[in-house]
Amino acid sequence: MDFKEYKTCSKCLKEFDKTSENFYKSVNSKDGFYYSCKPCDNAIRTNRFKEKLSHNISRICAHCKKHFYAELCRIKTGRGIYCSILCSNKDRICVGKSLGEKNPNATLNKEIVSNIKSDLSNNVKDDVIRKKYKIRASHLCSIKARRIWRHI
Ligand SMILES: [Zn+2]
Ligand SMILES: [Zn+2]
Repeated sequence: MDFKEYKTCSKCLKEFDKTSENFYKSVNSKDGFYYSCKPCDNAIRTNRFKEKLSHNISRICAHCKKHFYAELCRIKTGRGIYCSILCSNKDRICVGKSLGEKNPNATLNKEIVSNIKSDLSNNVKDDVIRKKYKIRASHLCSIKARRIWRHI
């Protein structure tokens, strides 16, 4: 009697002896082996690894200055600045605390802000205000919420 079992690789569709020589062991599969043969599985693994590398870009967190990897798609959309949500939240609180012109990043001055505020009270649309004064949405949001320029 022949007790030899065969398993067909789902990738290359070749038939192999169902042994740990030809297939990696898997605790999750019914027969205890991966669905693809070792050479195919190796190829899949290295591909995944390469993909990961090409999509992740090494960055330095804007808050804690730690090294981290951000996905390319996130960086393209202007995110991927902080290593974690924690850091981004911490930085946001910092920005909220700074008051107007004392903040070195401030591109606005009292005059502009009072103009913005009067526009806001005249129900001028956010987009229009942002274009008119060339400010970021988050900046305008902070002014509206009185997190910055509270004293005007
Ligand atoms: Zn194969
Ligand atoms: Zn960080």
